[in-house]
Amino acid sequence: MADKDCIFCKIVKGEIPCHKVYEDDDFLAFLDIAPFVEGHTLIIPKKHYRWVWDMPNIGEYFSVVQKIVTHYRKVFKDEFVAGIIWGMLVEHAHVQIYPCPRQLHLNWPQGKLPPEKAKKLTRKLSF
Ligand SMILES: [Zn+2]
Repeated sequence: MADKDCIFCKIVKGEIPCHKVYEDDDFLAFLDIAPFVEGHTLIIPKKHYRWVWDMPNIGEYFSVVQKIVTHYRKVFKDEFVAGIIWGMLVEHAHVQIYPCPRQLHLNWPQGKLPPEKAKKLTRKLSF
């Protein structure tokens, strides 16, 4: 059930724009607007769940996470893509992935993703 104040539900409904890299009937992936690394991506179920652990289709969800990570490994030519399930800042289930996180120590925090860079990255990563 959608939560009327949930920012991710608003993104799913198109009320808030996002830099979308992947979408199917049940899931959506988009760039984080304050990335820790280039390509920092959020993968969410379209249906509102507070926690990843509450999802009845968690297996399907992780197949989508795997599909996106496999794609990023090819695009970034690096097998190292880290993932985190934290769940505190936005109360809508999400997996965060960080391509090539070796750069984390060097560049974090990078601040807000500039719109031009976001557009370029979205073109590079969407499939
Ligand atoms: Zn939500």
